[in-house]
Amino acid sequence: MDLAAPPSLLPDPLRLRRHLHVGGEWTPPADTGLIDVENPSTGELIGQVPAGTPADVDRAVAAARTAFPGWSAATPAERSAHLDRLHAALTARADDLARTIAVELGAPLKLATRVQVGLPLTVLRDHVALAARAPVEESIGNSLVVREPIGVVGAITPWNYPLHQVMAKLAPALAAGCTVVLKPSELTPLTAYLLFDAVTEAALPPGVLNLVPGTGPVVGEALAGHPDVDLVSFTGSTATGARIMRLAADRIARVALELGGKSANVILPDADLATAVKVGVGNALLNSGQTCTAWTRMLVHNDRYDEALHLIAEAVAGYRLGDPFDSGTRLGPLVSAAQAERVRGHIARALADGARLVAGGPEAPVPTRGHFVAPTVFADVHPDSALAQQEVFGPVLAVIPFADTDEAVAIANNSKYGLAGAVWSADTDAALAVARRLRTGAVDINGAPFNPLAPFGGYKQSGLGRELGVHGLAEFCELKAIQR
Ligand code: NAD
Repeated sequence: MDLAAPPSLLPDPLRLRRHLHVGGEWTPPADTGLIDVENPSTGELIGQVPAGTPADVDRAVAAARTAFPGWSAATPAERSAHLDRLHAALTARADDLARTIAVELGAPLKLATRVQVGLPLTVLRDHVALAARAPVEESIGNSLVVREPIGVVGAITPWNYPLHQVMAKLAPALAAGCTVVLKPSELTPLTAYLLFDAVTEAALPPGVLNLVPGTGPVVGEALAGHPDVDLVSFTGSTATGARIMRLAADRIARVALELGGKSANVILPDADLATAVKVGVGNALLNSGQTCTAWTRMLVHNDRYDEALHLIAEAVAGYRLGDPFDSGTRLGPLVSAAQAERVRGHIARALADGARLVAGGPEAPVPTRGHFVAPTVFADVHPDSALAQQEVFGPVLAVIPFADTDEAVAIANNSKYGLAGAVWSADTDAALAVARRLRTGAVDINGAPFNPLAPFGGYKQSGLGRELGVHGLAEFCELKAIQR
């Protein structure tokens, strides 16, 4: 095999990984099949990991089950100390993690460092504190209501934030006293290998965390359908989420689902338009548009519409595509050729549906190598059209005009999704009133920052349950009522 990435791009031992991590050890898989890992900026092969099988899943789930009694009986202080050591081991690898994410996902190095690695480190640090607190108990009449860890968790994660999506599951699962089998995305598995190097260094008890790489249809299905998995915690597309629910249904296993989105950014007529557009475009294009919470529909009042389109075109022109390791790059490639092709299909469909191209489009120049798609903006997008309804998961923004607040709210809520959103207004009470009317799991007013302790998750087909903070921790617990 010819591994093309120059050694300086990836930590050296990472490129050829041949093992699973089960029961506290690096251990060979049952089968010799391999999955190729590609650098989407160049299309070159950069690594290989095992293509796990159901037999590997059986072994990993058994290890997690064996570890559960001890880990669930550990004191909050003991679990917190383990998480603290994991935080230290990961922090020591922060640069390697960022470089790995820049290589296997194509995220610009600055984004990879600050968001892709910075955010999960914050989440883990928060869970060091959350784990240290005794589980919440309450008295209701003659009942003592206690929380207990749910058991063995099957965690299945996507490629778009390869460390954060994993951490949003592992940290609360471990803090609650659960044990875990992780199946990371087959497109970005190398990040998970670095995480398990840190797990090894932190000397977590054997079997508490287990890693089985592989494809969704093989390892994902085996994990979601496994009779000894108590909770399937999944992040990914709505279609796969529905499949996971069906697999879990036969044994009434719990599911937590973080799925797709088509979030609305509502810009009211009295908003600071320049800021609203700048932040709104940045949000839609973050991570090349491969962000589930991206505000991909920008709703602008008629009175400010032309001005907004002008500002949007200006903002988009400032986004340079290129090598993630070049400090001038603001947008990397899409994760794969298939993803780029899907996004180009959405652009072609929007053109056919009569949307007006304001920036980018099929003819816009992009680097010749790699899976790049130019940031693209359409105006006059009909709220019922495919572009306004379907998740693109690429750098494509739909701009939609509205006449009054009621119409803006109706357009924003005209979606099968309900994950995130935004409202901009000089009158924060008016913005809050609109935020309350949006059928969505999160709303940011005037660009307020992301809060990693607030509950994260969706209404409608954006998911079931919440991640992060105390509400995320609760997903990994059962409730027991003890009458006295
Ligand atoms: P995906 O659903 O294709 O894959 C996600 C994970 O599920 C991968 O690990 C994959 O191998 C696995 N999988 C695929 N088929 C499976 C099956 N039949 N059974 C079990 N597992 C299976 O999604 P993706 O392309 O990796 O990620 C993009 C999607 O994820 C987008 O729709 C995006 O909105 C969503 N997403 C949601 C959130 C959120 O928090 N709500 C966050 C990030 C991404």
